Amino acid sequence: MGAFELNGKVALITGASYGLGEVFAHRMADIGADLVLTARSAEMLEGVASAIRAKGRKVTVAAGDVSVEDDVRRVVAAGVKDHGKIDILVNNAGISDMRGLTSENYDTETFNRIFAVDALGVFLYAREVGRHMLERRSGSIVNICSIMGSGANELNVIAYTAAKGAVRNLTQQLGCEWADRGVRVNAVSPGFIATEMTRAAIEGLGMADYIASRTPMRRIGDADEVANAVIFLASDASSYITGHDLLVDGGTNASNGTFQVRPGHFDWGAMIGKPVIPGGYEGMVPLPERFSLWAAGIPGVHYELPAG
Ligand code: NAP
Repeated sequence: MGAFELNGKVALITGASYGLGEVFAHRMADIGADLVLTARSAEMLEGVASAIRAKGRKVTVAAGDVSVEDDVRRVVAAGVKDHGKIDILVNNAGISDMRGLTSENYDTETFNRIFAVDALGVFLYAREVGRHMLERRSGSIVNICSIMGSGANELNVIAYTAAKGAVRNLTQQLGCEWADRGVRVNAVSPGFIATEMTRAAIEGLGMADYIASRTPMRRIGDADEVANAVIFLASDASSYITGHDLLVDGGTNASNGTFQVRPGHFDWGAMIGKPVIPGGYEGMVPLPERFSLWAAGIPGVHYELPAG
């Protein structure tokens, strides 16, 4: 493991009661980290903490809301008091919005709430833990951003997209400001991962296949694949990296949108009676169903998402 190990380090993880944060907590504990876990649901946090304590790690639980300044101060103080220091902050807590509302119809209340949790919450934790890290001239902060933070999307979540864009810029700004004082600040931007946040889209709307069909790797991601990137940026293995946004998205962002269009050579081949690429590429199947999906337009943009 070498530089990837977290032996002797203390990591504070927000949004650790379930979802990606719970996976990060286990994975970081497995390679030596002691933990400070926070989220709003105290009982669920205790459940995660006791499973990790059973592995022999020291875990502090401090419930709180990331958008409430007093909660943030209290949680950070509890962590420092219990462990004497915080080496790693994973700014993971976040909320989204699956209603598929177009921007002209978006309500101010939801916009403010998503910004308060996804952007302000990240800043409050970065500032509070950052002060402590700057004093010690040592620390690594990993902000969980999203591929939606570096471009537009088809899901109509203007508040989430804007907030994640803010997180991406904030990561670069803090990364530069604190670079010469021993504190690194990076981001991890996942693509579509199955968690509570996306369950409505996966189970209710059946969107996993749709998302996979427009991801170059042709599948949605796994929480452990995101955890690998978080561990890399949290650990000394990334000691010369700061202000970076590491995309864990199966190539979605790199595809620049072109992957959303059905590969045309299948049509051209069919028109002249013989495929240009006989049999097609492996993993890229000229399914008529895929074309009809595309022809119907984009859910939430060209036709309404089903209610509920
Ligand atoms: P999730 O399953 O909904 O979990 C969200 C976590 O955040 C929970 O632990 C929740 O705990 C906590 N949380 C929510 N609001 C909070 C608040 N106000 N204060 C404190 N904690 C709060 O979501 P996830 O998929 O694991 O998402 C984790 C992060 O990854 C988010 O920042 C999300 O935007 C990002 N992300 C996810 C995906 C994806 O496809 N899943 C893709 C890109 C980025 P409580 O309810 O107990 O507070």
